[in-house]
Amino acid sequence: MTIVTRFPPSPTGSLHIGSARTALFNWLYARHHGGNFILRIEDTDRKRSTAEAVESIFDGLRWLDLDWDGDATFQTSSLDRHAEVAAQLLENGQAYKCYCTPEELTEMREKAKADGKRVFYDRRWRDRDPSNAPEGVAPVVRVKMPLDGETTISDLVQGDVTVANEQLDDFILLRADGTPTYMLSVVVDDHDGGVTHVIRGDDHLNNAFRQFHLYRAAGWEPPAFAHIPLIHGADGQKLSKRHGATSVQEYRAEGVLAPALCNYLLRLGWAHGDEEIISRDQAIEWFDLKGVGRAPARFDPAKLENLNAHYLREMPTEELVDLVLDAYREEALDCDEQIAKSRITSALPHLTQRAKNTTELIDSANFLLTQHTYPLAEAKAEKMIASSRSEIQEIRSALNDQEEWSEEALNERLRALAENLELGFGKLAQPLRVALTGSTVSPGIFDVMTILGRTETLRRLERVPDGEAD
Ligand code: GLU
Repeated sequence: MTIVTRFPPSPTGSLHIGSARTALFNWLYARHHGGNFILRIEDTDRKRSTAEAVESIFDGLRWLDLDWDGDATFQTSSLDRHAEVAAQLLENGQAYKCYCTPEELTEMREKAKADGKRVFYDRRWRDRDPSNAPEGVAPVVRVKMPLDGETTISDLVQGDVTVANEQLDDFILLRADGTPTYMLSVVVDDHDGGVTHVIRGDDHLNNAFRQFHLYRAAGWEPPAFAHIPLIHGADGQKLSKRHGATSVQEYRAEGVLAPALCNYLLRLGWAHGDEEIISRDQAIEWFDLKGVGRAPARFDPAKLENLNAHYLREMPTEELVDLVLDAYREEALDCDEQIAKSRITSALPHLTQRAKNTTELIDSANFLLTQHTYPLAEAKAEKMIASSRSEIQEIRSALNDQEEWSEEALNERLRALAENLELGFGKLAQPLRVALTGSTVSPGIFDVMTILGRTETLRRLERVPDGEAD
């Protein structure tokens, strides 16, 4: 049997990281078993579905490198097929037309509320002769659920879950206007697509019992179900906007790398021993549904940040250089591209030590590629320049005579200068850092000087505006 999993998002917003995790689990399950992973856009809610959301889903999945087999399908293109299945169910006596008026339904609802009971359609048309149908009421089509006994689903994550069948209402398959409901469409499409495993959030567990019987009513074998606990925020509530970024695109914009996000989402609710850093190949090899926990996973931004920093340090140098260079190319580089490349390459080991994401990495490379202009943007840095003009002058003349440009030689030279001037070394190093980088934060000062080289270092020192020492 070929394993077929699916990802059927409703395109009503950008790709949520909870949905991305569902997609990842389905993708991994299919890849692990050499099966197929299909993508179906459930766009039947015309009012809430948007083209941008569809784009965001495609874009997010591509960025995460979760490829789907075959073309993505759109649920709206199979509405006729859904209606056809409803017609068959009617014919076989597994479904019936219900002519309840909106007033009757309201009355039913209010009575249930007044009696403190669950709002439940009372099946009044299940056995009624359709010749009693009132004039002018377009019927809905409802499925016949079993009236007694119980249903057990052997969920691959939740274990055996049982409900009393009297809890399952005769839900609607076709609305009065003839359009199918989610419940019908999802079952027909999953069946027609040959889906063998439905892996999704446990907010759909209740639907699974209804869908199970709908499969049976249609004479089809239900798929295996695996309902994974939802992602919660640190406060134990379902992850939402209140907890910060929720879409895949927001994380990308914040400088998170796709492999880091995948690794993080994989570990969120699934474990393989104590492994934390898991490559794509290992994930495919190890992924199983037994490793999915039953408790809701807690989203931990600090953990994602650490993983991201790890993946950043592991990225091949060439890719990192391109990433940084691409970001600056648009802004206009202040130096020749070859020089920029070589400066970034030498600075990378220092920069990746400090950066937790690509945004920080790109920002930290600023001093290598663009000239800072005075007055400096950072008030602290500008103040330091204003109050250290004589020190800068001293450094400038000392370095003008300095031919050997190694870390060791520069260290010796500047320490000797500090001693001569009877100053702590920091009193020279900090203004020098600001003069060379435009900021009070940078890699070590000797690294900065050797990365920039002699000519550029002296040129930057020349650019510090003269002025009266304070
Ligand atoms: N379109 C549904 C959703 O996005 C799919 C649910 C399912 O997996 O069956 O929630």
